[in-house]
Amino acid sequence: MAEFSIIDSYFNRPSLNSVDLGVGDDSALLTPPSNQQLVICADTLVAGRHFPLDTSPHAIGWKCVAVNLSDIAAMGAKPHSILLALSLPQIDHDWLKGFSQGLYDCCDQFGVSLIGGDTTQSPHLTLSVTALGWIEHGKAIPRSGAQVGDLVVVSGTVGDAAFALQHLGHPLQTRLDYPTPRCELGQALKNLASSMIDVSDGLAQDLGHILKASKIGATLELDQLPLSKTLQSLQNEQKWQYALAGGDDYELCFTISPQNYATLLQNNPHTPTTIIGHIQPELGLRLQKDGLDHALHFHGYQHFV
Ligand code: ADP
Ligand code: MG
Repeated sequence: MAEFSIIDSYFNRPSLNSVDLGVGDDSALLTPPSNQQLVICADTLVAGRHFPLDTSPHAIGWKCVAVNLSDIAAMGAKPHSILLALSLPQIDHDWLKGFSQGLYDCCDQFGVSLIGGDTTQSPHLTLSVTALGWIEHGKAIPRSGAQVGDLVVVSGTVGDAAFALQHLGHPLQTRLDYPTPRCELGQALKNLASSMIDVSDGLAQDLGHILKASKIGATLELDQLPLSKTLQSLQNEQKWQYALAGGDDYELCFTISPQNYATLLQNNPHTPTTIIGHIQPELGLRLQKDGLDHALHFHGYQHFV
């Protein structure tokens, strides 16, 4: 009984967009728009592992949606809906109220509907979200398309969330708790970017995935990394550590020809972007400062260590 009253009380709002059947039946029903491919992904957040235990329920609700919409954005796709698998240690109505409010706030901001899920009891608070989106057939932006001569570009600023994790209470904590999925920019890059990834495990590691998939290399200019005022004020090695190896940024990193980048800027995206380097034929990631190679040993966030 408790499970059904939780669903009815907190997770059964009317859908925002075209949904044939949402929460309440055995499965949800959607009609795929013609000539579109379904884009689908899942991400799980475990309390104490993916967010500090005392994170506000509202922020947890926001973040579990945002990290998934970021993956949809990284394909160039338009997000449509989510499913939520919720494992709760106990029924805490204040927590559920804040959590569902945060979840719906993120859904509302990006025009996404909650169309189903599962609710269970378990010793650990775990949120697993599946996100669905649509994209014109064949237009998804893979990790594997980077070409020699492309620019390497990143959105927003990097390293803020990792800094905030080590300085809880600092104003930058909003970057950790309330990441902004770059949905609009992702879609604006359709037909323009040659490869794309969202930066969740650190820029160096995530760009590394593009390079590996594209069988190519890149040079980054350390002084070009887009940093917030707080990170700019740190010593070089420290700020580069946050910027390149810090997790939880949820910015988009993409490769694009100079010509297509000019087109993107003409289209005037709301999200700022910065050229941080270029693609080269020699494999691997090369870091430079003032035109000279700079050796740094960074590792992104490793699961299972
Ligand atoms: P079943 O037993 O058939 O799997 P459930 O009792 O798990 O059905 O769920 C009933 C309905 O509520 C389904 O439509 C399911 O998708 C939805 N649902 C369950 N938990 C959640 C949740 N946390 N958020 C959104 N929808 C949920
Ligand atoms: Mg079920």
